[in-house]
Amino acid sequence: MESKEYKLLEKLYFERIGGTDKELEACHIIQDELKQLGLESYIEDFDVVTNHVSKVSLEVLKPYQKTYEATAYMGCVNTQGLVGELCYFESDNAVSKKQVCGKIALVNGYLGMKTFKAITEAKAVGFITYNGNIDREENDLDPRELRESLQEFGNLPGVNIRVEDAMEMVAKGASEVRIVVEQTIEKVSSHNLICDITKESEDMIVCTAHYDSVPHSKGAYDNATGSVCLYGLAKELKDKKLAHNLRLIWCGSEERGLLGSKAYVAAHQEEMENIKLCVNVDMIGSIMGRRIAVCTSDMSLVHYMDYFGKIKGFPIEVSQGVYSSDSTPFADNGVPAVSFARITSPGTGEIHSRYDVMEHLSESMLLQDTSFICEFVSEMANSFVIPIPKEIPDNMKEEIDKYYGRDLKKKEEEDKKA
Ligand SMILES: [Zn+2]
Repeated sequence: MESKEYKLLEKLYFERIGGTDKELEACHIIQDELKQLGLESYIEDFDVVTNHVSKVSLEVLKPYQKTYEATAYMGCVNTQGLVGELCYFESDNAVSKKQVCGKIALVNGYLGMKTFKAITEAKAVGFITYNGNIDREENDLDPRELRESLQEFGNLPGVNIRVEDAMEMVAKGASEVRIVVEQTIEKVSSHNLICDITKESEDMIVCTAHYDSVPHSKGAYDNATGSVCLYGLAKELKDKKLAHNLRLIWCGSEERGLLGSKAYVAAHQEEMENIKLCVNVDMIGSIMGRRIAVCTSDMSLVHYMDYFGKIKGFPIEVSQGVYSSDSTPFADNGVPAVSFARITSPGTGEIHSRYDVMEHLSESMLLQDTSFICEFVSEMANSFVIPIPKEIPDNMKEEIDKYYGRDLKKKEEEDKKA
């Protein structure tokens, strides 16, 4: 058995970084498939940045000399040679914050907003992060980005290195390092692909899935599977009579900070009143795992989804919460949202690395997931009145604010005033 869905998954199986030609190629592949279904679609561009790095290095100067391969943080300030004492910034605690003042911080793994805020507040002068897993034979060195949301707290020169190198530096007591970053930033385009299945009424349901991937990953599971699910919805629902508008949006640059869905809601503010629901699909079809539906909505949708799974005999854990994906910008603009995923069980598949591969996926799981999501979308799109209250409850608003780091930013503003 090889379904059209699975064939499309195979076609999308390549690195598709937001803002690159490869991402656009993936966009065109999906658009061609829609055309073969007899469906028109259109592309909306939005700006993202890219960098051209002319120099980047990390050297340990004391107590031993060694140069480690490093990538520059896109968007960080340039330095022709920042020499400083190294401080292993283990966590955001008072002792580490005092120790890191005037030094270059080596932080644990990924640079989150909270950590970046801590090191800038503590007056660190530069930073080093790492990626990978020490037990892997080989770790790809990821390029990283100092996102605009982080730059609001400040800007420092920063580089990313491999986990084995970070461990060596700590084990050998690296105490003085030099960072060089020279890059220029350029604006390029990323793309959302939009397809209207029906235009029947004022009310609209949007279905979203991102089709970009991170560097070094062919993004089979994250999120060619969701992209294929949307294609499955198009195939299944295109000839059905639906009561409400149904729009499918394949979002670009999700992995770079939900940029596609943020651009969509910014460019379509006038639609927000009419969009009654966002159904987002991010990572399904894994061989092993558990199905989840995360509802950024009031509890009535949570209960409904739970009943729906039980009625259909589809095992799914339903919860109220914020899912880190393209559903969130919609919810942040007052649109109730539900994100579907099949989360891999421990050790059976990972994301955001070269190990996100087809071999961990199952055609039948992918089709089962797609079919369940399709039944739900079809039920909503055919409702006499879309039954979901058009409101985001306060507890969800709070969680969305936390997700965007607005609580941290608010605190910073208050601190500045004080
Ligand atoms: Zn994803």
